[in-house]
Amino acid sequence: MSENENYDVVVVGGGAAGLNGALALARSRRSVLVVDAGDPRNAPAGHVHNFLSRDGTPPSELYAAGRAEVRRYGGRVEAGRVTALARDGERFGVRIGAPASERTATARRLLVATGVRDVLPDVPGLAARWGIDVLHCRTATAGRSGTSASASCPPARPPSTRPCCSSNSVRT
Ligand SMILES: Cc1cc2nc3c(=O)[nH]c(=O)nc-3n(C[C@H](O)[C@H](O)[C@H](O)COP(=O)(O)OP(=O)(O)OC[C@H]3O[C@@H](n4cnc5c(N)ncnc54)[C@H](O)[C@@H]3O)c2cc1C
Repeated sequence: MSENENYDVVVVGGGAAGLNGALALARSRRSVLVVDAGDPRNAPAGHVHNFLSRDGTPPSELYAAGRAEVRRYGGRVEAGRVTALARDGERFGVRIGAPASERTATARRLLVATGVRDVLPDVPGLAARWGIDVLHCRTATAGRSGTSASASCPPARPPSTRPCCSSNSVRT
C-alpha cells in the first residue's frame, strides 16, 4: 500500500451506470472516486443507439464525455481494477490495482457497477464479429447492420414482451 485515500463513495466500474451514479454523487458534493477497468459491455460496437441525443456516438466518446462531466464536479476517475473489498469498521477498504501501482482507498459507501459479461458460444469466428454483425439485441441494433435479423434473437415479438440486451449474459 503506497498511500491511503478516503472518499465518501468509491464507484467500482466506470461504464454508463457507474459514471452516471458518480455524476449524481459528485453534484451532491460527495467526494467520489471511480475506478474503471476500461472494458464496458458495448466496447465492440461502433456506435451507441437508442440513447436520446447521443444516437450514433462511438462508445468511447460517450464514456470520455461522462468522465469529463464527473470531473467537472470534482469527482476523480481513474483507470484500474478493484481487486478486493473489505469492511473496515465504519468504512470499506478498496484495493486498487492500477497499471503502475497498487494501493488501498477507503469509502463510507460503495457503488458497484461492474456490469455483465457476455459469454459467447464457442463458434469459430463468432467472437471477432460480436457487436459488428453478430448482434444480440434487435432494439439497440436495428438499422445498424442494414438488416433486422440478429444472431440470437428469436423471430420478432413486440419489444415490450422480451427484455433487451439480457440474454447470454452473466453479472460480474
Ligand atoms: C455489442 C453491444 C452493443 C450494445 N449497444 C447498445 C446500444 O446501442 N444502446 C444501448 O442502450 N445499449 C447497448 N448495449 C447495452 C449496453 O452496453 C449496456 O446496457 C451498458 O454497457 C451497461 O452499462 P454498465 O455501466 O452497467 O456496465 P458496463 O458498460 O459493462 O461497464 C462496467 C464497467 O466496469 C468495469 N469493471 C468491471 N469489473 C471491475 C473491477 N473489478 N474494477 C474496476 N472496474 C471494473 C468494466 O471494465 C466496465 O468498464 C449494447 C451491448 C452490447 C454487448
